[in-house]
Amino acid sequence: MSNLTQTYPVMEHFYTIQGEGAHTGKAAYFIRLAGCDVGCSWCDVKESWQEEGHPILSIQELVDAVKTSGAKMVVITGGEPLLHDLDPLTEALAQCQVSLHIETSGSSPFSGKFDWITLSPKKFKRPVTDIYPKVAELKVVVVNKKDFQWAEEHAALCPESTQLYLQPEWETPQAMGWIVEYVKEHPHWNISLQTHKYLDVP
Ligand code: SF4
Repeated sequence: MSNLTQTYPVMEHFYTIQGEGAHTGKAAYFIRLAGCDVGCSWCDVKESWQEEGHPILSIQELVDAVKTSGAKMVVITGGEPLLHDLDPLTEALAQCQVSLHIETSGSSPFSGKFDWITLSPKKFKRPVTDIYPKVAELKVVVVNKKDFQWAEEHAALCPESTQLYLQPEWETPQAMGWIVEYVKEHPHWNISLQTHKYLDVP
């Protein structure tokens, strides 16, 4: 049994709608852990990079928040969540009868037990190879046309069952047109949009 007093730096946690990828449109409780050493130039949560200065919450507090929300799905994200040992947190959340998801760049060694693993690889710090066999969803952010090659390199390393998504970077709207054409030519890929930004939810 996890030590429920163990703590994590948590930038924010909230019940909302999953805006991206395979589970778009489903209600989900997001736990955004603080700390990231990847450094994407276009990152839209740069305030998550430092671990310091964010609330320190115990596993018990996070479990209570999830239970109170009534959520059926929990998404652990960041920052880069794999900078933390996620074994104790996921062990405790598993008792809440929720589907446990992670969104990660995969750039640190894997920990935790999840029902759904979304890998979003970043060129600024490549994934550690232990994650590839576990990936249920590959989501590649497209900033320039070279990113299609980057996406294919990673798809080749993931299981055949992996769902493949290309997502335009929010501040690079011209990427939408490139992605539409790419998906028409390579229909095993899908388009992911940041629909939470259109819905104006966190
Ligand atoms: S991995 Fe995520 S949180 Fe870290 S810099 Fe890149 S986009 Fe931002």
